[in-house]
Amino acid sequence: MRRGFTEQGCFEELSIVISEEEKIKCPQCKRELKIECTSTLKVDLHGNKKKEIIGSCEHCLADYFWIEIIDKSGNKKIEEFRRHFCG
Ligand SMILES: [Zn+2]
Repeated sequence: MRRGFTEQGCFEELSIVISEEEKIKCPQCKRELKIECTSTLKVDLHGNKKKEIIGSCEHCLADYFWIEIIDKSGNKKIEEFRRHFCG
């Protein structure tokens, strides 16, 4: 990615970087889910990092909830993937 500008600080960077392995696919249509919200990172007693994520499929108009766990060795695991209904 490259940015061009004439004055320092004349723009606000709004990009969100999502690495390839963070992309989760819709179980129905296999399209990529759009991340709607992510909880703050929690670390448990064993040093595992845990994040709760809500993502939506803009094609199926469905929301999903899952928990991402990264253990001390950096291995990522998805837990509790399910449909999410708000309200
Ligand atoms: Zn879908």
